[in-house]
Amino acid sequence: MNLILIGPPGAGKGTQAKRLVDARGLPQYSTGDMLRAHRSAGTELGKAAQALMDAGKLVSDDIVIGMISAALEKAGAGRGFILDGFPRTVAQADALSAMLAKRGEKIDRVVMVDVPFSLIVDRIVGRRTCPKDGSVYHVKTAPPKVEGICDLDGTQLVQRADDTEAAITKRLTEYDQWTRPVAGYYQQLGLLRHVDGVGTPDEVYGRLNAALA
Ligand code: AMP
Repeated sequence: MNLILIGPPGAGKGTQAKRLVDARGLPQYSTGDMLRAHRSAGTELGKAAQALMDAGKLVSDDIVIGMISAALEKAGAGRGFILDGFPRTVAQADALSAMLAKRGEKIDRVVMVDVPFSLIVDRIVGRRTCPKDGSVYHVKTAPPKVEGICDLDGTQLVQRADDTEAAITKRLTEYDQWTRPVAGYYQQLGLLRHVDGVGTPDEVYGRLNAALA
């Protein structure tokens, strides 16, 4: 299955994508994770993206399209995938369709994880992530067993530089302007399903699986 998860920042796309990866064995491609890996490695691409990311702005279509194209090429056709955080603009969605058409593939399903903007700031400001394995916690609603430490590998958790109130406001504006039309794009193709993203990760995962059935 070739699957896309879309939704506003803080909707839980990354958390749900990781569960699908474990359950279905599909590779996950997250442009946000790829960009953060470039930043940690200090590459030119990472340096170019850094200021935009920290300000909550989208990085250029060329950069993310190039990263996804390289990842899909490396994986080869026919293995299925979950995209999380890509496409975020209609130009990215068009580029993805062209990439897949070239190898005789298509998107099978697009799931929009709906969370009202009013809940998002709290979700994101309390979010802590493990820089090593990418697992996500929340200081109030999903704390680790030991404060500030990843349950799975003992790494010190970090707060993302763009998980601040100022950056979130910009990220939501960018979402409204650029990413909401992507939902319309897939709606027109008859591929879009909506899942209510309010609730525990287990509840949302149940709804997600029902939407994929
Ligand atoms: P995320 O981890 O998906 O929330 O992404 C973090 C940041 O990386 C975003 O706020 C953007 O600055 C950048 N980014 C990630 N994916 C994309 C994309 N598909 N298009 C443009 N910018 C992206």
